[in-house]
Amino acid sequence: MASQGGNIRYVINSSGKLVEITGPWDEFYAGNSEEALNSSKVLGTNIFDCMADSTTSYVYENFHKQLLDGKVEQINFGCRCDSTNLSRSTEIKLKLVPGTNNIAYESKITKVRFMHNLKELPEEFADAAILMCSICKSFRLESEPKGWTPVEDNFEIMLVHDNVSHTVCPGCLEDFSRRGYLE
Ligand SMILES: [Zn+2]
Repeated sequence: MASQGGNIRYVINSSGKLVEITGPWDEFYAGNSEEALNSSKVLGTNIFDCMADSTTSYVYENFHKQLLDGKVEQINFGCRCDSTNLSRSTEIKLKLVPGTNNIAYESKITKVRFMHNLKELPEEFADAAILMCSICKSFRLESEPKGWTPVEDNFEIMLVHDNVSHTVCPGCLEDFSRRGYLE
């Protein structure tokens, strides 16, 4: 648990390349059983290359643009960043590295909870394609565009479900837009 508490800072240059990582990045991602996320593997890669979803790219491109254009000084948002059996709430802060066009992301864990008794997905979700918001973890069946449901403990197992793909939900988009983070 001790290793879950550290702050992580990483820097992304103006073309999206991850150029610097400090803090317990590897400990943080170890629980996701994703060797591909080791800092030695991700350093030097472009974050936009790992975003399969156009909504997610749109959000982060806008965040960077708003900061680079000086429209906002700082971007702050809460984000659920769970691993297989840990529920983790984080606060993410983005701002320009002074004197550069690089953007520093600071991630601070505000709450960690072990998820016991993970449950099976409800039957209607078991074999269906599921979309999940990478910010707040609400989700919907891909076949039901309006059916966004806030995440509940019972559904945590979805995070390791093969049929989940990530996006940003309309509620989070609206929140970002209201705060001037999107064009
Ligand atoms: Zn959301």
